[in-house]
Amino acid sequence: MKINWRPYQLELKYPFTISGFSRTATPLILLEVEYEGLIGLGEASMVPYLGENLETASAFLSKVDLSWLNYPFDFDELINYLDSIADGNPAVKAAIDIALHDLQGKIENRPCHTFFGSKQENMPLTSQTIGMDTSEMIRKKVLEARGCKIIKVKVGSEKDKELVETIRSVTDKPLFADANQGWKDLGMAKEMTHWLYEKGVLLIEQPMPKHNPDANARVMEQSPIPIIGDESVQRLRDVKKAKGVYHGINIKLMKSAGMHEAFQMIQKARELDMKVLIGCMSETSIATLAGAALAPLCAWADLDGPFLTKNNPYTNPGFENGKYVLKDSPGLGVEVL
Ligand code: MG
Repeated sequence: MKINWRPYQLELKYPFTISGFSRTATPLILLEVEYEGLIGLGEASMVPYLGENLETASAFLSKVDLSWLNYPFDFDELINYLDSIADGNPAVKAAIDIALHDLQGKIENRPCHTFFGSKQENMPLTSQTIGMDTSEMIRKKVLEARGCKIIKVKVGSEKDKELVETIRSVTDKPLFADANQGWKDLGMAKEMTHWLYEKGVLLIEQPMPKHNPDANARVMEQSPIPIIGDESVQRLRDVKKAKGVYHGINIKLMKSAGMHEAFQMIQKARELDMKVLIGCMSETSIATLAGAALAPLCAWADLDGPFLTKNNPYTNPGFENGKYVLKDSPGLGVEVL
């Protein structure tokens, strides 16, 4: 098993501003695993808040040796092996895991979604995120997002109400709200859950700082809308801790170390009677298709990577009526432009 990889700078259509920071591009690693003449494609998207970058990814990959790994792949063993090299580095671990799932699909000539029992009829609508911006730009972005039937709004600043009202001036689509830990005052956060409910918001992500489960739990207890843990829930071990703090969790492949552990997290959440939102970072079609393969097992999807970036090197995934379309092509079905 051979691994090849290269850095890739994924450019965003608009500077992406959320509570806490702003950026215009995201460093990626595009990775290939080669096995008996077949190639599996993977991707790491390294957003600043998880502490990964090209240097950490490169240092990690220099220690990875998959010569011991043979088909059929044992993904538990793979993840244990990757975790034994270093803690953290979930995005680069995800790149390897995703590439191996793509490869497995190509070896078996079946699409990745069949590994998890995902069915198109259960595919949820996906939202498109509108980052913080001026009112004029917000209106422009909402109109551009006309293919999506749900808009996700980034809240967590003193301008939350103004932002939501601006969106409401151009669309009555249902909304997701993401505070990205930006609400600091419990009384205000509680009031906002009710106000957002009145405005047609379907869920709220990470209202309070991730290190304060008590505050998040108190928001949840009285909220008329599901409260979803995102920054506080990264890998399988975090799901149990989220019970009683959030109604549900936001799973992202770049946090969960890939598809295998994301699937385990979905199963664990079900066991705990918690809902799942499947989300993404700034990603190309590779990780988006990997997320879409799991999305039918989740209540909600927020897989808007291809809509928010301008140099996706692959064909955009099939998308109709606000939903991704699962295809029959082997593996993830990534097509190079
Ligand atoms: Mg979020």
